[in-house]
Amino acid sequence: MNNPDRLPVRQNVAMMSGYHSPQLDVTVRLNTNESPVPPPDGWVQALRAAQSGIDWNRYPDRAAHELRAALAKHERVAPEQVFAANGSNEVLQCLMLAFGGPGRSALTFEPTYALHSHISRLAATEVVVGDRRDDFSLDTDYASAMVAQHRPAVTFLCSPNNPTGMVEPPQLVERLLADVSALPGLLLMDEAYGQFDPHTAVDLIDDGRHLAVARTYSKTWSMAAARLGYLVAPSWVVAELDKVTLPYHLDTFKQIAGRLALEYEDEMNDRVAMLVAERERMAANLDQLPVHHWPSGANFILLRPDSGDGDGVWQGLVDRSVLVRNCSSWPRLAGCLRVTVGSPAENDAFLSALSEVLT
Ligand code: PMP
Repeated sequence: MNNPDRLPVRQNVAMMSGYHSPQLDVTVRLNTNESPVPPPDGWVQALRAAQSGIDWNRYPDRAAHELRAALAKHERVAPEQVFAANGSNEVLQCLMLAFGGPGRSALTFEPTYALHSHISRLAATEVVVGDRRDDFSLDTDYASAMVAQHRPAVTFLCSPNNPTGMVEPPQLVERLLADVSALPGLLLMDEAYGQFDPHTAVDLIDDGRHLAVARTYSKTWSMAAARLGYLVAPSWVVAELDKVTLPYHLDTFKQIAGRLALEYEDEMNDRVAMLVAERERMAANLDQLPVHHWPSGANFILLRPDSGDGDGVWQGLVDRSVLVRNCSSWPRLAGCLRVTVGSPAENDAFLSALSEVLT
């Protein structure tokens, strides 16, 4: 109810509901696509040692030079083509603050990561919603026509896509990149799950292309608690993002944590390989159950019980102390659940709980 004594919230915020990811006290948590394993011991020790050298009375390096240089080396781009922030969500927020806004639009193809439209609206950007096919793939000609018709400032793609897990074909990415470049606009590739699949758009990054790729430490690097993400983009994009961040937005400890993590790339790749193998094992097991599931290039699988009763199956899993994401009430995802790939033991617990619930 509107209370006349209170200052009303901004109109575009009034129309929103916040972004929620419900947590419950359960034994097996497979609902937020985190890594089931902690980061390498070597990283923990190196971080502990580095911490004693921090000048806590001083502000951090505002431009995060060392972190950006290390990320640039890691991604094989120039340091001026890297922007870092507190999670890739904040990266996206900065992008929309700089390139969205009143009179501009953002284009998404649903279903996809809810924060793309949410953050765009927060940044007072009109959201144009395109659709995927029933199998959640995206028709290239249709997507291209949507860009031409709506002339969005920012076009979002997510690959692998959350929550479907599907990977966007390179031909689609290249076609949309050509389309947005002609406007001109920007193509934002969200690669939060990028390392779980061999495809990446980072190789296409060039100051002459209108492409930006967002990545995160939250999934593959086992560092969700650190809140660190980054963007690889043309230097002219990064220069604008530097204007919209708050001063000193990345604390010293986090900058060190992110830089040191990159020294443990082999360990990261080992964890990714373990999760990919587990994902394939889970998919093979799901083939034996009365569920439909979508091909995933990420660390999660979207599934729909043949009964269509997503809510009931979700509750049955919770009753067995297994929490997955209930997408049943999300647009276009009636009856769907999304399960994160966990440790082998967690995945076993999920599979046996699911088969109990379904049979
Ligand atoms: N993009 C996608 C597709 C995601 O699924 C997530 C996390 N759920 C994010 C971005 C945000 O990740 P973070 O802010 O932790 O980097």
